[in-house]
Amino acid sequence: MGEAKALKDTLGRPLRDLRISVTDLCNFRCVYCMPKEIFGRGYRFLPKADLLTYEELERVVRVFVGLGAEKVRLTGGEPLMRRELETLVAKLAAIEDLDLTLTTNGSVLAEKAQALKDAGLKRITVSLDSLDDEVFRRMNDVDFPVDTVIRAMDRAHEVGLRPVKVNMVVRRGMNEDSIVPMAAFFRERGYILRFIEYMDVGHTNGWRMDDVVPAKEIVRRVNDAFPIEPVAPNYTGEVAERWRYTDGRGEIGVIASVTQAFCKDCTRARLSAEGKLYTCLFATEGTDLRALLRGGASDDEVAARIAGVWSGRTDRYSEVRSENTIPLKKIEMSYIGG
Ligand code: SAM
Ligand code: SF4
Ligand code: SF4
Repeated sequence: MGEAKALKDTLGRPLRDLRISVTDLCNFRCVYCMPKEIFGRGYRFLPKADLLTYEELERVVRVFVGLGAEKVRLTGGEPLMRRELETLVAKLAAIEDLDLTLTTNGSVLAEKAQALKDAGLKRITVSLDSLDDEVFRRMNDVDFPVDTVIRAMDRAHEVGLRPVKVNMVVRRGMNEDSIVPMAAFFRERGYILRFIEYMDVGHTNGWRMDDVVPAKEIVRRVNDAFPIEPVAPNYTGEVAERWRYTDGRGEIGVIASVTQAFCKDCTRARLSAEGKLYTCLFATEGTDLRALLRGGASDDEVAARIAGVWSGRTDRYSEVRSENTIPLKKIEMSYIGG
């Protein structure tokens, strides 16, 4: 292992994963992420010239890989809103030993799946909060139907983007009754369903602890319907706690970011669409890498900046969070990526 690969933060955590928001735009207005009252007509999204180009993204990813990153997730906003995303996928898929994946709301995935697969993408995560059309339309808040998303997942599976994973954010009083129907449906389909505790990201979603359905309760509800047992994690730092159905019908994941914080194993860096580096989902300040990239810095200089930020990293927000300690100026999920 080279010197660079030994990069660790102040708590001994290596830099393993990079999540890249490729755009802050989205065609949904999920009530827990981009509420309409804030992200309405008057909201100013990033100008196109501010977004990192695909060439800049490829360059910066190569630098991250040189520092030990093994996994890149493309996210957003809605990543498939960025034009010809397959061009970026092709560039990143060509990087050796890089595990590349993408999280999407699935709205235009049916049309894009083949192109993404051809570009070298191997697997995909699709977000879906309910199978109940009315509940889903209320949660995405743009009246988007469930059927289109299911069709997109099936299309992704068909072209070979496997396994298809499904992200469901569970919010008390909104879609908790969808937990068991979702489990029933996706175990039949063979897609891996991952339940996510509703988090206090950003400052626009009006988060309250009461809105969180704790992972323990989610597990209990699924177990009552279809018995499950825990599975060992795939690797250290895996955020989803894994459970398998005892009848052999696949597995689920539960991401307990609120009730069972996993900061001690958090190996994730995040890059906003305009090239700011964040070392925590709940960070308030980022480091501008775009200025370096556009200002003539060499790859070594970019690497030194990233290494400097990472080696000083102290973040453990979820471990120290309390209901009353939400920072005032957190970054929105749609900006920083999920
Ligand atoms: N637009 C894409 C999508 O929805 O899949 C990618 C970006 S989205 C910000 C990434 C993930 O974050 C989605 O699965 C979404 O459900 C999740 N998410 C957004 N806001 C959240 C919150 N407050 N708590 C927990 N998960 C959240
Ligand atoms: Fe858009 Fe994804 Fe946020 Fe929903 S969760 S508003 S689809 S970015
Ligand atoms: Fe990582 Fe920050 Fe989340 Fe903790 S709160 S797991 S450090 S992103």
